[in-house]
Amino acid sequence: MSRILVTGGAGFLGSHLIDRLVEQDHEVVCLDNLQTGSLENIKHLESKITFIEHDIVEALPQLRQFDEIYNLACPASPIHYQADPVHTFKTSVIGAMNILELARQTGAKVFQASTSEVYGDPLVHPQPEQYWGHVNPIGIRSCYDEGKRGAETLFFDYARMYDLEIKIVRIFNTYGPRMDARDGRVVSNFIVQSLQNRPLTVYGDGKQSRSFCYVDDLIEGFLRMMASPKTVTGPINLGNPNEFTMLELAEKVLKWTANETPLQYHELPQDDPKQRQPIIDQANIILNWAPKVMLDEGLQKTIEYFKSVVA
Ligand code: NAD
Ligand code: UDP
Repeated sequence: MSRILVTGGAGFLGSHLIDRLVEQDHEVVCLDNLQTGSLENIKHLESKITFIEHDIVEALPQLRQFDEIYNLACPASPIHYQADPVHTFKTSVIGAMNILELARQTGAKVFQASTSEVYGDPLVHPQPEQYWGHVNPIGIRSCYDEGKRGAETLFFDYARMYDLEIKIVRIFNTYGPRMDARDGRVVSNFIVQSLQNRPLTVYGDGKQSRSFCYVDDLIEGFLRMMASPKTVTGPINLGNPNEFTMLELAEKVLKWTANETPLQYHELPQDDPKQRQPIIDQANIILNWAPKVMLDEGLQKTIEYFKSVVA
């Protein structure tokens, strides 16, 4: 049994991670400022974990020793991370520094939820970890992209300077139950719109692509990464390499919700990446990890969840 801190634990991914950690009988502390997460996501764990409401940008409260820290705190959806870009950047960089200091003081292994956004609008396709990316440093996505890149820099500098054990994963678009119905990400938007008989909002011509990973697969990758030997620092891509255009995704959502609502085209947001697909050979070889849930199955599970939360 380990003592584990999960920042951002009341969010979509964090709450699924805590489910798995509690199942394994670990002692879990969840620290979250509830900016985009919700106590609803961890209500079923109320008696099993400790919850601390706190913003990682601010000096951390007095905490106990931890064996492992997962740093997931950061809004992940474009509408949320763009709502207060300065705070997003602070969360990514100052927040990461506060977490790294805590890891240094307590000797904990520390995990960073990085992102495929570090590749920006990639000119190399699909994306291997060795690719340095194509990121606009001054655009509306930059607070997140550059913030997460800065966090990776800090993690590596702390590892080099203080011999800290770091674990960095670059997460590609992940979906599943407990996504926030209003956070504007494409999978939740399309499902909720279809269930409410509203048109599906396709941005641009819908030919841009993403590779969608089901949440359970991703969390298994997190656990394997944390359990890997000290020499495994990452960054390691975690995602499902099956790539779809937004039009293909819309078609699947309509099929599995058994609906025929029309598509409604909107302007493509600035700097929206045209394509994204992970190369997962490293996760495969080093962590013996590969996603198991394909999009059709994952969408059906996610649709069942949304049926219970939206009218
Ligand atoms: P989410 O918005 O559901 O969860 C983020 C959680 O962090 C929320 O509970 C939020 O309240 C909390 N938070 C935000 N800023 C904070 C701060 N300053 N201090 C304390 N708590 C804070 O998003 P998610 O999809 O669960 O993403 C979790 C992590 O994974 C994020 O770091 C995100 O960048 C990363 N990620 C997610 C995806 C994805 O597809 N879901 C892809 C790439 C990276
Ligand atoms: N998108 C869309 N309709 C929506 C929401 C998003 O067509 O209602 C598109 C968006 O422009 C992007 C893709 O879907 O090309 C994925 O968007 P999301 O916000 O889910 O993730 P990210 O852009 O961060 O990969």
